[in-house]
Amino acid sequence: MTGRADPWIDVKARALAANVASVARRAGGRPILAVVKNNAYGLGLGTAGPLLDRHAAVAGLAVVTAAEAIALREAGVRKPILLMGYTDEGTAAELVAREVRLAPYLDGAADMLQRLAERFQRPIPVHLYLDTGMSRLGMPFRRAPAWIAELAGRRSIRVEGTFTALTESEFDPEQLRRFADVVRQARAQGAELGRLHVASSHGLFLRPEALFDMVRPGLALYGAHPSEVTGAEADDLTPAFALRTRVVRVERLEPGDGVSYGRRYVAQRPTWIATLPVGHADGYPRSAVNGCEALIGRRTYRVIGAVSASHTIVELGDEPRIGVGDVATLVGDEHPSIHPNEVARRAGMSVYDILMHLNTALPRQVV
Ligand SMILES: *Cc1c(COP(=O)(O)O)cnc(C)c1O
Repeated sequence: MTGRADPWIDVKARALAANVASVARRAGGRPILAVVKNNAYGLGLGTAGPLLDRHAAVAGLAVVTAAEAIALREAGVRKPILLMGYTDEGTAAELVAREVRLAPYLDGAADMLQRLAERFQRPIPVHLYLDTGMSRLGMPFRRAPAWIAELAGRRSIRVEGTFTALTESEFDPEQLRRFADVVRQARAQGAELGRLHVASSHGLFLRPEALFDMVRPGLALYGAHPSEVTGAEADDLTPAFALRTRVVRVERLEPGDGVSYGRRYVAQRPTWIATLPVGHADGYPRSAVNGCEALIGRRTYRVIGAVSASHTIVELGDEPRIGVGDVATLVGDEHPSIHPNEVARRAGMSVYDILMHLNTALPRQVV
């Protein structure tokens, strides 16, 4: 055995850089606000954050929890960080002290920011979060003009950006009209709105009219793509991570031998199988048994039986072909069958779940 078999994640710095360049091209050179929420989509906040931070095309990083914002600073990230989520006043002060930009959306925001500005003796930089139809976070567009008038008039607040999130549906054009309306009214009142940003990965590929002043993708930076995107456009991105482990057992089944819980696979003839010590507790989906494959050496092998918490079994065929200690890749860029979008398709899941469900405890290494 040549190394530890425990599953790990390779984070590919070159692929990440290529995706940043690809996104920047697609965005016509607009700056990128790189979304690194949910542990940088599984790549690891402390691993992917600093790698993204150093690219000139990346203007800043965006997260959804205060803990993520603080973790990024502790990992050495220097660029502006935007918290696209709720924060109470105490946490807001901690964040402002670390140069994290807040995204106000509540009615009391102007007063809270005023208090923070007095405490820090300087204007508080913010990005105004507008709700144009998601009904999730953001100031509802109908009340937004009056709310912006109150915020934007204060010297204690510096509006660096204004943004909204699209539903990524046929409703997007209506949301874009609402956003443009609020922007027009606010500007007519003399409000400074900073950089406008709307497009996630979906918008980047499918809503060219939503690019505005800055783009805000997550998924595409990590090399996966919205499921509607295919062909050369999809191929322009490279998965920037790989979920790997090493083979820990190679055995021959006799006819009638079953595999794993429930014996959903029973050998019809003598067949070789291999056990991989990675399972659904690591984030490899249970439904991978519905057609996913693992790459071992130059060939891919079908997942059979069941994906249990910590183990997955693959069918090798008539010959053993591989040995204990060989590296197996479950998700990655080295073969079309293990591309995250293809794994998601075969497993009947969203590609976001393939990335974001990768267990945070798995070791990440930059390669
Ligand atoms: C997650 C998120 C994004 C990035 O979305 P992707 O589809 O991963 O590109 C952008 N904006 C907001 C508000 C988000 O929550």
